[in-house]
Amino acid sequence: MIKPGSTIGIIGGGQLGRMMALAAKEAGFKIIVLDPVPDCPCAQVADGQITAPYNDEAALRELGERCDVLTYEFENIDYETLKKATGFAHVPQGAELIRITQNRIFEKEAVAKAGVRVAPYRIVENAADLKEAVGEIGYPCILKTARGGYDGKGQITLRHEGDFKETDPLLAHGACVLEKMIPFTKELSVIITRNETGETSLFPVVENIHHNHILHQTIAPARVENTVKKEAEQLALKVAEQLHLTGTLAVEMFLEADGTLYVNELAPRPHNSGHYSIEACSISQFGQHIRAICNWPLRKVELLKPAVMNNLLGQHVERALTQIPYQPEWSVHLYGKKEAKFQRKMGHITVLTEEIEETLLSLEQSGVWQDVQKRSEAAVND
Ligand code: ADP
Ligand code: MG
Repeated sequence: MIKPGSTIGIIGGGQLGRMMALAAKEAGFKIIVLDPVPDCPCAQVADGQITAPYNDEAALRELGERCDVLTYEFENIDYETLKKATGFAHVPQGAELIRITQNRIFEKEAVAKAGVRVAPYRIVENAADLKEAVGEIGYPCILKTARGGYDGKGQITLRHEGDFKETDPLLAHGACVLEKMIPFTKELSVIITRNETGETSLFPVVENIHHNHILHQTIAPARVENTVKKEAEQLALKVAEQLHLTGTLAVEMFLEADGTLYVNELAPRPHNSGHYSIEACSISQFGQHIRAICNWPLRKVELLKPAVMNNLLGQHVERALTQIPYQPEWSVHLYGKKEAKFQRKMGHITVLTEEIEETLLSLEQSGVWQDVQKRSEAAVND
């Protein structure tokens, strides 16, 4: 067990690192973050920063020397470098989880091996493969780069042959997967945590609403039948088992009208759809992650009250700030990012509520997310 007073090193200094650090500091840990951007969101709450690229081996070695345990806040760390780090530092999550989840091909293979359904897909490396794959999968389908995508980056939806012209940059990036578009009724996610001893905990199954491929809103618990929840939990457990998880794994899923569940994507870390847990659960996903990597016994996760979480992207921040005086029930989180760029995740708000539908309406009426509403109205009118 890693004791309070010890130092935790976090690779990556964005909002996930920041919220991990805040949870760890509550328990008396010290934090050093490795990130190339000085004064990044995590550094603002950490005890120290090593300002260097994530894959700088000397920097990682220094982090290992100064810390008692290392974790990471994102999956795009260089696998070989992290693997080396497991030789000179304590990295309870290991490097294998990163190797698999940073490549959609390996990830889908691992999920399928766990006996869990993924959307039909083909591996595509060039224009000829793509044509053949589209012939097999059919329209509509989605081409995704195997590596390096996030928040919809590195993805193109194909509805007819005319869309092929957009695919060159993706194929130039390297291997891709072509996936069938799943006509889902809901997107769900489950966050699962496991410590080194092998104790496992599950956060409630939640419902996620995306706009332009970016998470807009999470509703906890998901408004689905209990049988669906149970199955979603079982799927997450199977995948975690297959991956020999230590740490946190977020499992994103699609639910079809007939109740079929598919695993869409995995994230080997706390996840945007788990931010509501800071206020709504007996322990947050960040607190549980810290317990897991320090090999503390895991807390029993209980949803204390239903919740809605809305993301604040660059275009929402100013309007959200003007709402603060009128919204006493909003727990406001801002990540300390300097520039409020369009579509950039700047913060989020969480509302605890027994009346989900009323809360959804009140969030809509606040006008903060009017760009999202305009788009959904346009979609309805189409
Ligand atoms: P990332 O989160 O890394 O950007 P995802 O694969 O999770 O990539 O895709 C982002 C979003 O795009 C999903 O949450 C979903 O809304 C939509 N999407 C992705 N793949 C599919 C698919 N096969 N069928 C339907 N929608 C999809
Ligand atoms: Mg995703």
